[in-house]
Amino acid sequence: MPKSDRSIAGEEFFTDGMSVAGNDEAKRYIIAEILRGTLHHAYIISGKRGGGKRTFAYQTAAAVLCRREGEKIPCGKCASCKKALREKAIHPDIISVSRKEKTALGIDSIRALRMDAQLLPSESEYKIYIIEEADTMTEAAQNAFLLAIEEPPPHVIYLLLCQDTSALLDTLRSRTQKLSLRPLPMPLLESKLAEAGGAKARKIRDQSPHEWREALVCADGSLGAALELLSSAEMKKRRGQRERAFMLVCKMLSQSSDLYLYLSRMKYKRDEAQRLIADSEDVIRDMLTVKKSATAPMCFFADRGEAENEAGKYTMKQIIKTAEALCEASVAIAHNAAIQTALFAAACAK
Ligand SMILES: [Zn+2]
Repeated sequence: MPKSDRSIAGEEFFTDGMSVAGNDEAKRYIIAEILRGTLHHAYIISGKRGGGKRTFAYQTAAAVLCRREGEKIPCGKCASCKKALREKAIHPDIISVSRKEKTALGIDSIRALRMDAQLLPSESEYKIYIIEEADTMTEAAQNAFLLAIEEPPPHVIYLLLCQDTSALLDTLRSRTQKLSLRPLPMPLLESKLAEAGGAKARKIRDQSPHEWREALVCADGSLGAALELLSSAEMKKRRGQRERAFMLVCKMLSQSSDLYLYLSRMKYKRDEAQRLIADSEDVIRDMLTVKKSATAPMCFFADRGEAENEAGKYTMKQIIKTAEALCEASVAIAHNAAIQTALFAAACAK
């Protein structure tokens, strides 16, 4: 018997066979659509880096194409599942589209995708396109993609993986279904990390509890990030990124005289700048949180007292102003503004 059938709109659904950690709501939603036969042609799967977007997409694709030889969906037993769920999927009807070495996903890739989508699937009812880092699509590519989803061949499903949905055109967002993957709660992240990281991870947990704790806190609820962080080089790099974000927020809040010098020394690539801003926003979120609630969980500071101490130096108004400036910089960078110009503009906001 499948365990814990859940009722959705009066119907009973099997437990799913997806191995993505947590995110039961998103999994139930997609399984329900498959079972009801109400699949849409395009879904945006959003979430943090390392938060399981790609795994979720491949498992969704496997679930759609599954020939149901077991009770779970995907069953993991049929020929289709075996091709789709291998570490490197080899299913001919699951097609990955990515920017490869380029900085953006351009119109040529989307034009090629549209041509390919006209051809019937090789061995299934559907052809599923997984578009990696869809938020790096240029505006021209996004417009070309809009044409693809306006009149899609009936056998096509697009899964767009995306960290920053604000980088997508409103018209594109409004024509797609959204599935957002949430950060894992700490206890689940901890148990999944011990499981997925194998003996090496458990050794760190048992012998270096500080390092283990730091990986969990720095991972922001993302299992992929936590696994990466357990390698010490990655932890060192991540610690440096977080320190720079903390420094940036402190300098912005205090309107430090060397803020411009600090920013002018930064030589960031676009994704690094977005990382810096995302971390800075986490610092701000914690500062606002401790001002409003004595118990709400922290997302940046491992030590609540430290967050309270920092937040106590500034007014609510100052903190909110800085949050807005960072948000504007993030949007500008996502829309291809020069990185330093965007950061300088944020620093100027008073
Ligand atoms: Zn199957």
